Amino acid sequence: SLDKIPAWREETRPNDKEEVKELTDGGGPRNKVSLYKGDITVLEVDAIVNAANSSLLGGGGVDGCIHKAAGSCLYDECNSLNGCETGKAKITCGYDLPAKYVIHTVGPVARGHVGPTESNDLTSCYQNSLRLMKENDLSTVAFPCISTGIYGFPNEPAADIALKTVKSWIDENPDMITRVIFCVFLETDFAIYKKKMSVIFPDN
Ligand code: ADP
Repeated sequence: SLDKIPAWREETRPNDKEEVKELTDGGGPRNKVSLYKGDITVLEVDAIVNAANSSLLGGGGVDGCIHKAAGSCLYDECNSLNGCETGKAKITCGYDLPAKYVIHTVGPVARGHVGPTESNDLTSCYQNSLRLMKENDLSTVAFPCISTGIYGFPNEPAADIALKTVKSWIDENPDMITRVIFCVFLETDFAIYKKKMSVIFPDN
């Protein structure tokens, strides 16, 4: 039965539509969160979150992948937004992406250091992205591991913040979100999230 299917699985055939659908559906309708290891740009959700930089004009990592897959209209819209501060978020269309919208959020530049400022800013990224989901009546979202790449936020505390912030949001807004996909890209994050998810979302 659906209840027996774990809500965390790994993409084995990149860009295979059937498989991606199965993965993003998680363990069935009762699970609100799922863990997906693979490319965020293939996900057919209301919004994918971009770990952008403050210029919003594209960069490396997931940002570069999203701009490449969305096409130059995304750059044009981002160019009209006047950048974005750390911890804040702005929404654009998804253009050539299967996702309807992109929520661009700017994570803290941590360079290996986790202090209150870095933690608060990363928490704000998740909260402000979810607030934009609510304001725009969107219900399915995929998050990458914000700040853990070029910006150097250590993976384990970053996963803690991601999972706990989303958990609180879901608890406080029970009717809003129907699915949150934690889209990890690296095996290390997959292992960290898998372990933490069973603790933070024990009923999932
Ligand atoms: P930041 O600048 O916020 O650190 P990065 O893009 O450098 O952002 O890294 C954030 C995370 O996104 C890293 O775990 C990286 O491996 C991952 N990532 C890179 N490309 C993709 C992609 N196409 N889909 C999902 N995650 C990705």
